[in-house]
Amino acid sequence: MSTRLTGRAAAPGAALAPAFIVASRSPVEDELPRERSGPVEEETARLRAALGRAEAQLRELAGTVEEFAGPAEAEIFEAHGEFAADPELFRLAEEAIHADASAERAVVGAFGSFRELLAASESEYLAARAADLDDVRDRVVSILLGRTTVGERPDVRSVIAAHELTPSQTASIPPTLIAGIVTETGSPTSHAAILARALGVPAVVSCSGLLEAIGTGTDVAVDGRTGGVVVAPERSERQAIRGRMESEERRRLELAALRDEPGHTADGHRIELAANIGSIQHVPAALEAGGEGSGLVRTEFMFMDRTTAPTVDEQVKVYAEVLRSFPGDRVVFRTLDIGADKPLPFVDREPEENPALGIRGIRLSLVRPDLFRGQLRALLRALREVAGTDAGRLAIMFPLVSTVAELVRAREILGEVAEEEGVDLTGVEVGVMVEVPSAALAVRRVAAHADFLSIGTNDLLQYLFAADRLVGAVADLAEILDPDVLTLIERIIDAGHANGAWVGVCGEAAGDPTVAAALVGLGIDELSMTRVAIPEVKDVLRRLTRQECTDAVREAIERATDAGEARRVIEGRLGTALQA
Ligand code: PEP
Ligand code: MG
Repeated sequence: MSTRLTGRAAAPGAALAPAFIVASRSPVEDELPRERSGPVEEETARLRAALGRAEAQLRELAGTVEEFAGPAEAEIFEAHGEFAADPELFRLAEEAIHADASAERAVVGAFGSFRELLAASESEYLAARAADLDDVRDRVVSILLGRTTVGERPDVRSVIAAHELTPSQTASIPPTLIAGIVTETGSPTSHAAILARALGVPAVVSCSGLLEAIGTGTDVAVDGRTGGVVVAPERSERQAIRGRMESEERRRLELAALRDEPGHTADGHRIELAANIGSIQHVPAALEAGGEGSGLVRTEFMFMDRTTAPTVDEQVKVYAEVLRSFPGDRVVFRTLDIGADKPLPFVDREPEENPALGIRGIRLSLVRPDLFRGQLRALLRALREVAGTDAGRLAIMFPLVSTVAELVRAREILGEVAEEEGVDLTGVEVGVMVEVPSAALAVRRVAAHADFLSIGTNDLLQYLFAADRLVGAVADLAEILDPDVLTLIERIIDAGHANGAWVGVCGEAAGDPTVAAALVGLGIDELSMTRVAIPEVKDVLRRLTRQECTDAVREAIERATDAGEARRVIEGRLGTALQA
């Protein structure tokens, strides 16, 4: 008889294959020697060697993952390598060795202190990182105990089942052998789920009772859209899941066929669908997903992870490469958005009680004109370097603008740098992010100084609702489909249009098909989003007319009293297109 289980849907798709159970690999505490057997120096040397080896293994794994899943996923293992190389971690463990602990126990203790910090976080994303730390810890301890850390792997393509699947366990199974992933614990933002999405296989997490119900070799059906898992499915259940697999495959091919098509509604109203990118490594995946240029290049990421500012020449090289990667399309480079949750190691700053309300975004650029001018110079030199080729079109955007004066000053500086460089700014669009409520209120005057407005819903919602975007417990407060937020967005769009500026959205919300349809209904011109969302949004918009979107969002604004109701109204009206 079959057993039906339900977990949380974590990666779309459907699979029917034998299960392969990956056992938990954590060394048991009792196996670890309590006290060091030799002098402090010897034990410390063992510790140093094990951490070094773990770091090397993780960097190698990053290389393998980069090949099959791409650079963003490889970064997970790069980050794990950095955990292993962290000097603070080493210091904590060394201290324990001085107090007579064995290297194994010292490592467990040091990782434990790090883990407590992460696990206590309200953010689901950060809490999910605690499992990553365990993964690195177990690797180091296994090395100290002289055990191999080569993962087990199935003989045939299987549904990988585990209590908790660590990223390195997932990565050490060849992707061709993974039909799907199901875990008893974990969240949709855990890295096993992220890797599943990158591999294009279904995943279900938080599926309690899983390991009691299956053994290696038992057939299991996984539906990554509903979170349904059927162990030992009967004939009719097999047929049902095969039907889902076929429709998923059709959907994948349908969406892939749209790759080179432009974004528009069913009645031909053009909506540019661009990709947000954080580094040059993200470009191939953005193109693969059918991104029409980039509506947000988060340039600050190339300034992070380093101890000195990149030189103008280094920046020119990267910016020109990004421009060349998007022939003919617009590429919006956002100037440095540093501060708040994105500090820079080489920028000295006064400590701030509320960094999200402090010197960040354009405010920092205006107090550090050396950094700002250097970046503008690099952007204009990159423009000169690609002139006469079919590279993308340069657009420059300023983040976290809260007053008209800031925008005017930033444009003045850009004009000065352009003059120094002898670059003509005709044809370079200069825009502003609308992500601070004061800029939204002043939007008519702001728009008069901008070629385009790009609504940063991540920050705009955080500031409108006073709900820190890093605190999971308040995440539900900040909803873009709140009827009054929709009215505010309409006002921003209208003010842009009245001043001849185009208006886009580059916050995460743009990648939600229901929200995208609502924004189209309000008159948005461009949506820039995480690349994985592009095919689905492109497809959904092609099934809807502009008028249908307008009618749906109008009804939501008029009838709904909160975001949940607004979503129901919109999905009720546009239902079949949104459920394609
Ligand atoms: C935003 O705030 O919506 C945005 C796109 O910028 P970031 O997420 O980089 O702050
Ligand atoms: Mg922002």
